[in-house]
Amino acid sequence: MKSIHCTLPVLLAALACAPRASAQDIGACLKQLRGEALGRGISTQTFDTALAGVEADSSVLEAMDNQPEFKIPVWDYLAVLVDAQRIEDGRARLVEWAPVLARAEEKYGVDRHTLVALWGVESDYGRQLGGRPLVRSLATVSCLGRRQAYFRGEFIATLRILQSGDMPAEALTGSWAGAFGQTQFMPSTYERVAVDFDGDGRRDIVASVPDALGSSANYLLRSGWQRDTSWGYEVRLPEGYRGPSGRRTRNELREWRRLGLRNADGSELAGAGSAALLLPAGRSGPAFLVSRNFNAIYSYNASESYALAIAHLSDRLRGGGAFVAAWPTDDPGLSRAERREVQERLIARGHEIGAADGAIGPRTRQAIEAFQATAGLAVDGRAGQKLLRALRQP
Ligand code: CA
Repeated sequence: MKSIHCTLPVLLAALACAPRASAQDIGACLKQLRGEALGRGISTQTFDTALAGVEADSSVLEAMDNQPEFKIPVWDYLAVLVDAQRIEDGRARLVEWAPVLARAEEKYGVDRHTLVALWGVESDYGRQLGGRPLVRSLATVSCLGRRQAYFRGEFIATLRILQSGDMPAEALTGSWAGAFGQTQFMPSTYERVAVDFDGDGRRDIVASVPDALGSSANYLLRSGWQRDTSWGYEVRLPEGYRGPSGRRTRNELREWRRLGLRNADGSELAGAGSAALLLPAGRSGPAFLVSRNFNAIYSYNASESYALAIAHLSDRLRGGGAFVAAWPTDDPGLSRAERREVQERLIARGHEIGAADGAIGPRTRQAIEAFQATAGLAVDGRAGQKLLRALRQP
């Protein structure tokens, strides 16, 4: 849902979306947008109040224009999104919100572990909503940059939300692309699937946890979620497997059995139904058979790594363990606590990188490169276990 280039949750934005600049005048464009909005049911008062003093936000264009500097390996993705802290926080949320989660399970058929995992990956359980005013961001990308037609739709959806009074204007902040709230919905998605799950008459995915959880459940249900079905599970490939794989290639379970796939513990695949074989890091890393529920999660952000993070976090919240197979790397990823440690150790060595917040931005990456060069490591700016080990040396 978050669309386009930086298809990363807001939590990972600092990891990969770096900047560029230039402010531009969008006054004439806003005039045109005003006419369009008024023609689509937005009142002059709503428009003029929302857009008063609004100028283009060049940092939004920077975020849009900048591809990640390097492809983030799936193991880095998983290490930071499913770390001990997020698992522990999620277990606390399961207890805290048990009655609401039970109601969501009953009404939408989506289990509580998936809902909490989605919440944890989307916004760190409501802690990171994205701070850019939606109207300004979407006005900017409606007038400048790529995909203006798409963003105009989201811009006008935002104005409709404001006009509905469901949420106050100051609550409507989010990512550069306009994803907002504890569920990080795009405005048009909000309009389509958000629900009032606490019964106060407003759909508020920013301030109301029940509304956010209920809205996520409704989103997944509408995306094809099947009740009482798991997203999938880890499997073991036979030696030298060269058979089909990929999220879109579905086979009956008996076909996967015939091809020699087994459960991760080596036992025979049980049950029936169809599934796809997901190989996030190729044939030498962990392998998964995934159901249509995995696709429902995938539709949330169109990224397999991202969907796997939610799926795996849901398993961990159920009490499951880490993957059985190792990722094909000798330099695994870091948790947020380890990322903070990397930053603290860089600071202690005199690097000016600001606060140790666990987000590896451009300054941290520069410092990592400088350290890697002096330590005789490969210079790639990546924060992995090898770097951490080297930093721990006196
Ligand atoms: Ca509500």
